[in-house]
Amino acid sequence: MTETFLTDILILGAGPAGYTAAIYAARANLKPILVTGLQPGGQLTITNEIENFPGFANPVQGPWLMEQMAEQAKNVGTVIHYDLITQCNLSTPKKDDPYFTFHADSGNIYKARSAIIATGAQARWLGLEAETRLQGFGVSACATCDGFFYRGKKVAVIGGGNSAVEEALYLTHHADHVTLIHRRDSLKAEKIQQDRLFNNPKISILWNSVVEDILADGNPPVVTGLALRDVVKNESYQIAVDGVFVAIGHTPNTKIFNDQIELDNEGYIITTPGTTKTSVPGIYAAGDVQDKHYRQAITAAGTGCMAALEAERFLASST
Ligand SMILES: Cc1cc2nc3c(=O)[nH]c(=O)nc-3n(C[C@H](O)[C@H](O)[C@H](O)COP(=O)(O)OP(=O)(O)OC[C@H]3O[C@@H](n4cnc5c(N)ncnc54)[C@H](O)[C@@H]3O)c2cc1C
Repeated sequence: MTETFLTDILILGAGPAGYTAAIYAARANLKPILVTGLQPGGQLTITNEIENFPGFANPVQGPWLMEQMAEQAKNVGTVIHYDLITQCNLSTPKKDDPYFTFHADSGNIYKARSAIIATGAQARWLGLEAETRLQGFGVSACATCDGFFYRGKKVAVIGGGNSAVEEALYLTHHADHVTLIHRRDSLKAEKIQQDRLFNNPKISILWNSVVEDILADGNPPVVTGLALRDVVKNESYQIAVDGVFVAIGHTPNTKIFNDQIELDNEGYIITTPGTTKTSVPGIYAAGDVQDKHYRQAITAAGTGCMAALEAERFLASST
């Protein structure tokens, strides 16, 4: 049986942004409902060691950190629903119906006087046909999930940002050799991460190279290598690998807000600088869904806090 829930504040997303917003909203006695989406805990659930989230002298596990945030949010009064918002109506609420409407996959409906969108981002793929066909057969976007299967083998990581470097370093715990393939001649990753990468004897880097195809044999297929092109020399070449990890960035989860709220040309929610206010009064955005520059757990948590405080003021001023 489907239900309709009325709430002052609905939080979409269960990453650091969503949980932090929930903690602040619950402590302001707003009785928030948080809808988790398909990945409770968000992106940090697919990483292992976090050593840059303040408060911990030693590295902590991503899934553990997110469980702690969920427990904290629940302990202060957040109601957590394991559901996915699939549709919404963010047209400005009227006096006789002061609610924004959100439809969930379960059929449940949420009517909220304000909402915080913290739906994060998801991994981007290269767009090769082989990449889709070979997912689960040697192609992955999650080293933490699949690295174990490459013990003693050779793998490649595609990309040049923090995710790519982190994936490459993680994979050295399992694979014999990791080749990082980047289309430019320098990395975008943090300096400290780059130093670790360059100093790791199990990692080599192929600069100025793009992936033309992923090679595989057999039925079921097994990845055997990569067809690459050196974009400076304009020469094609191949390398032998047993697994390919694509780590080329993220796409914000904003499809359902397309015609409801102002997005930039990459799909990120536009917020008023220095705030989490979106183009719709009463709707706030926090975390990676509105941040393409920092994309960190701590910045996501920080904007989650801001969003809850701003939503609280909005609610106080509209009653
Ligand atoms: C491999 C990897 C390693 C990383 N390592 C670090 C690190 O060491 N330190 C660091 O600070 N950062 C790290 N990051 C970045 C960090 O994970 C992100 O910046 C952070 O998780 C963003 O938080 P968020 O709350 O904005 O979104 P996310 O963590 O992406 O969470 C989004 C949430 O929204 C939910 N959602 C999506 N669509 C809907 C919907 N329609 N309805 C309801 N819910 C929805 C999802 O289920 C999820 O719960 C890493 C990221 C990756 C991928």
